[in-house]
Amino acid sequence: MPPEPRTELTGDSPSGLAAVEAEIARACKDTKRERSSVKLIAVSKTFEADAISPVITAGQRVFGENRVQEAKAKWPALIAAHPGIELHLIGPLQSNKAKEAVTLFDAIHSVDRPSICEALAKEIVKQDRKPLLFVQLNTGEEPQKAGIPPQDADAFIASCRDSYGLQISGLMCIPPVDDAPAPHFALTAKIAARNNLKLLSMGMSADFAIAIQFGATHIRVGSAIFGHR
Ligand SMILES: *Cc1c(COP(=O)(O)O)cnc(C)c1O
Repeated sequence: MPPEPRTELTGDSPSGLAAVEAEIARACKDTKRERSSVKLIAVSKTFEADAISPVITAGQRVFGENRVQEAKAKWPALIAAHPGIELHLIGPLQSNKAKEAVTLFDAIHSVDRPSICEALAKEIVKQDRKPLLFVQLNTGEEPQKAGIPPQDADAFIASCRDSYGLQISGLMCIPPVDDAPAPHFALTAKIAARNNLKLLSMGMSADFAIAIQFGATHIRVGSAIFGHR
């Protein structure tokens, strides 16, 4: 079951979006990057269509969800109503949801084990869909957290390509909450560079400006846009 949706509405969604856009613009300017080199993923998990619609109306087209079932319940109607929506899966994926994930999502940020690679490879061929794929790293080596430990990353990325025929486009990380994020972003960028991966999914509401400094191409921002969950 999806988590219980919040009934309290953030009437200020578009103003949250505007503030985030302003901070992205500032971070890009500071680091001499083009705004177009950073994709903002508005993370709408736990929020219902009536909170999401104003953000779409304000011009945002790229959204992230962390659960396949919740996304399946919310997004088909929104996608039908608003052409050009791009949907990203940023949360853990189970093999038995790979079919639905490949059908619904344009990008999957949580590739982190052989069983997922196998399930995704099968569905990608079967459905003739090509979602953008990111390998999730566990840069803090936290036991409770998903992702590949840094020392296993090169071998895992190679096996995605060589054993499963998956085209991996980038890396994703979620730094430990109590750590300074910069070293985790730097490590993720370094591992991506040596594996010829162009995309970096890193940075959330609290640290997306820092992530942009370290080369993030995809930032995943929820509460700064939609309010507290
Ligand atoms: C919820 C979530 C986000 C967004 O977090 P905020 O702090 O609300 O911006 C980003 N990435 C992942 C993987 C998430 O689950």
